[in-house]
Amino acid sequence: MKLKNCKIVVVSGNKYHISAPHGVAVGNVCINRCLEEKSIWHETAHLFGVSDHYDENTHETICGDEKCFMRWNALNGDHFCEKALSEIAF
Ligand SMILES: [Zn+2]
Ligand SMILES: [Zn+2]
Repeated sequence: MKLKNCKIVVVSGNKYHISAPHGVAVGNVCINRCLEEKSIWHETAHLFGVSDHYDENTHETICGDEKCFMRWNALNGDHFCEKALSEIAF
């Protein structure tokens, strides 16, 4: 069985000690610490090539859409912005 293109979404809660407050995505795996659906959408989008839409230092939203799921706190978002949709790669 080939797992090369397999994407794995782990919803762990606080089971794993990761530093990110909501979750982390590396390669084809994302681990969700926050169990809220919006946060899981954010981490899952990373698996498909979508970048973070916030400044690493200030956490300010940089895509111009304050309701974008890729903002710092995805719980304050409610959709993927145009930029996010254009970044998705399967
Ligand atoms: Zn992110
Ligand atoms: Zn955005």
